[in-house]
Amino acid sequence: MEICKSTVEELFEELFTEAKDALKKYIQIDTVNPPGNVDEAVAFLESILQKENIEYKIYSCPSGKKAIAGFIRGEKKDSLLLLNHMDVVPADQDKWEFDAFSGKERNGCIEGRGALDMKGLGVAQLMAMIFYKRRSVVPKKTVVFLAVPDEEIGGKEGAKYITDNYWEDLNPVGVLDEGGFGTKDINEKFPVFFVACGQKKGIWLQIKAHGKAGHASQPSLDNPNDILIKALYKIITHPECPAGDKILWDTIIKVSKLRGGAYYLMAKLYKIKFIRSCIGRYLHKIKFFNAIIRNTETISVINSGIKVNVIPEEAEALIDCRILPKTDYHDVIRRLEKLVDDERIEFNVIKEMEQSDISDSQSALFKAVQKSICSYYKNAKVLPYITPVGTDAKYFREKEVDSYGIYPIVIDQAELESFHGNNEKVPVREYKKCCEILIDIIDKYCCREGEN
Ligand SMILES: [Zn+2]
Repeated sequence: MEICKSTVEELFEELFTEAKDALKKYIQIDTVNPPGNVDEAVAFLESILQKENIEYKIYSCPSGKKAIAGFIRGEKKDSLLLLNHMDVVPADQDKWEFDAFSGKERNGCIEGRGALDMKGLGVAQLMAMIFYKRRSVVPKKTVVFLAVPDEEIGGKEGAKYITDNYWEDLNPVGVLDEGGFGTKDINEKFPVFFVACGQKKGIWLQIKAHGKAGHASQPSLDNPNDILIKALYKIITHPECPAGDKILWDTIIKVSKLRGGAYYLMAKLYKIKFIRSCIGRYLHKIKFFNAIIRNTETISVINSGIKVNVIPEEAEALIDCRILPKTDYHDVIRRLEKLVDDERIEFNVIKEMEQSDISDSQSALFKAVQKSICSYYKNAKVLPYITPVGTDAKYFREKEVDSYGIYPIVIDQAELESFHGNNEKVPVREYKKCCEILIDIIDKYCCREGEN
């Protein structure tokens, strides 16, 4: 039965008001990880699913934390899985301009931790699902909403546990998660949306400098602090040349074409290492691009010394390396060892994260995402990319399910930096489009499957 356009529009307006209210309440629920207790969040989502009469299931993870899934059954068991995490990172309240957990709507934005990462997207996914439930639509593909705990600490006892143990319940053939967004920083005339098709792999390294302890009144060539500082200086001043991966460069070429200028022509010659290193030097200044084009090393912890007049025996630094898919991390360590070239320095791997596969940027789901975004943002460009951050989508890519990270909103640099930073908020106008786009993606991918 066709429902007339105005009824659909009225339903959407009604739902969007509810979505905003739900997001405000959801932000107020404390799910800061650690400890990442999500009991109240699960009860909150459960109450919405119950009210809407949507079938749901609650799963217990080994940590005692829970995950919750909602289902709109389609003609097939194959599903589009809308993946989101309930936990958020802590907020340093003193550095915020507003209460990090008030969930207030002010100056055209909904404010608070989770507005972007990722309670906002979670609520939008839920509302998109409710839109179909209220209209009693039976899609061709099943739609699954899955909210998990512990993404912010790696997801092993969250999304990974669920995918390893309850795959039959979910049956995803496509997954939408976080990890991408739209920006006008590339060309102010139109937005460019980056959709994550893969993610970098994290390798945490300890670099240990061995020296000789002694009295600090006499400078020593064996001071481990000096040895460590020299090594770290070499590392930070010699970033790795951008990788020659085709997907990566297809995106860089398109971006430089959109920006205009000489870089477009240079980017087309990306197979030449010298050209890549020139572009890399330029993009080094732009934090986001620097992170997506090459393997990176960030010094995050330095430990050494006990007293000002004592030279210690050892000094250590911890480095967060993020490497592109298909990179062997031993090569990354070998490069660093060669660069440092000092046998008093020891490299140890303290943590190795999972390798992520890359999802196809020509798949039906990617195309649905692309078309939906373009129908709500005039002249938008939608490009695949490799996100520098870790997300739960990797557990689905591991099982060869096309999984994409996209929060379909346009954000500026300050908003981008508020992910895990201060003053996190989502602009309401963008949030509305996000809800519309998600509804449209479900329509294209789950309801009109096979139609053009
Ligand atoms: Zn997140």
